[in-house]
Order: sequence, then C-alpha cells, then structure tokens
Amino acid sequence: MQIIDSHCHLDRVDLSAFGGSMESLLAHAKTLSVEEFLCVCIDLEHFDDVLAIAQKHPEVYASVGVHPCELDGKDPSVEELLTLADDDNIIAIGETGLDYFHVQKDGADWQRERFRRHIAASNQSGKPMIIHTRNAKADTIAIMREEKAEKGVMHCFSEDWETAKAAMDLGFYISFSGIVTFKNAEDLREVAKKVPLDRILVETDSPYLTPVPYRGKPNSPAHTYYVAEKMAEIRGETIETIANATTHNFNTLFNLALNLEAKPLKN
Ligand SMILES: [Zn+2]
Ligand SMILES: [Zn+2]
Repeated sequence: MQIIDSHCHLDRVDLSAFGGSMESLLAHAKTLSVEEFLCVCIDLEHFDDVLAIAQKHPEVYASVGVHPCELDGKDPSVEELLTLADDDNIIAIGETGLDYFHVQKDGADWQRERFRRHIAASNQSGKPMIIHTRNAKADTIAIMREEKAEKGVMHCFSEDWETAKAAMDLGFYISFSGIVTFKNAEDLREVAKKVPLDRILVETDSPYLTPVPYRGKPNSPAHTYYVAEKMAEIRGETIETIANATTHNFNTLFNLALNLEAKPLKN
C-alpha cells in the first residue's frame, strides 16, 4: 500500500521531533505508507527552499505559485510563472485561488487577477493547478469557467457538494485533508461520501490542520494515513482501496507514469 500526501508545506514543517532532519521526517512518514509528497509553494520568496527540497529528495515533487492570502510578496506575471515552472521537479501551478475569509471580497480585485494569471500559466504549461478556495466558492468556480481552467485539484476541500460537482465537471479532482476527521465536519463527510473514487486525492496541508487523533500537535505528512483511514471509514471502503485510488489519481492528474518508483531523472 502506498499513500501520497498531495499537499504539504515541507519548507514550513516542524522538524524538532525529527532531530531537525527532513530525511527522518520522510522516513517516519514511510512507516505509515506515506511515500511521496507534493511540497506546495505559497510565495516566491520561499520558492527556492521548496525547489531545493524536491531537488534533494526523489520522492518529493514541488509546485510554483502565490497563495491568495499573500499580501506583501512578489506577484508574478504569467511569463514569470512559466519560467519558474519550467523544471522537471515542478509538477503543478499553485497554490492559488480566492480567500475571502482573510481578505475582503470587495477589495480583492488583485486576488482575482492573480488567480486568472495562474490559470493562464497552468493552461499554457500543461501543469495542473492547485486551487485554494475559502468563503469564495461562487467566484472561484466563475473564474475557473471564464478562464477555461483545464485541470487541477481543489485542495483541502471544505465546500458543499454543488461546488465539488462544478469543479469535477471542469475536470478537477477533490482533495480531502484532516478536516474530514474533525467533529463538526459532518457536512463535509457527506460530500466525501459522494465524490467518485476516481476523483479523490488526500493531503495533510501540514504543518497546518492536524487531523484527529493528533489535534493540537504539529501536523506532518505521515498523518495522510489518518486522512485516508477516515475516508475509508466514511465511504465504507478499505484503506487499501483509498490508497490505491488516490495514488492512481495523483499519477494520472500530474501526468506521471504509473508504477514509476521515483520521478523522472533530472538533466
Ligand atoms: Zn490552501
Ligand atoms: Zn497549503
């Protein structure tokens, strides 16, 4: 059984429990069958750190993009995103999207513009998008449609079935995080039950969003296991079924050869 953490921020995780060693953190994750990792970029100021982790570890992939809550950093053009994405380690554009929880909708023209540029970079590079959406489901789907977003994943999904359905109709995958383990997430569990097996991914979003039974402790990619376990319980499937399907879906979405042990050799 193999599980992939489709969304984590390895440049921000707390390594103190692992003797300061990324190798130990990754090795620990493997004891829970979590064997590959997509390390997601939030701002360009830390892009080099994200890329360096992927370059150093064959089981780690990376993305490039700017988060909708990033206010101060560099806001890249489509061309700049394409230049940074032109690397075998970079398999996705994001995370990007809309967040009206932290930024007021009325003043968020720049957020919507940023989102549109990322969609253009994704479509032009052929690399799927990682979309973050919070309190902004209608605008998120509307912009995806307007810009003809081609493929990607709605990460850390916490919206309703209509939003999941609209995203899937556009060809997108739905990624579930530790939120499905939270006590008050009954509505989300109903959505998780309905999403077809061939559209599901799992993630930790570590160091954020630690799942039950580790609430209150730092999150790490190993905990993808508990997300997969909960998904299996919710859906009445085995964890092997969830692991196999989500690994297959990850490899399909990101266009990686199936059964590939590690990512392609770098030039
Ligand atoms: Zn996010
Ligand atoms: Zn994230």
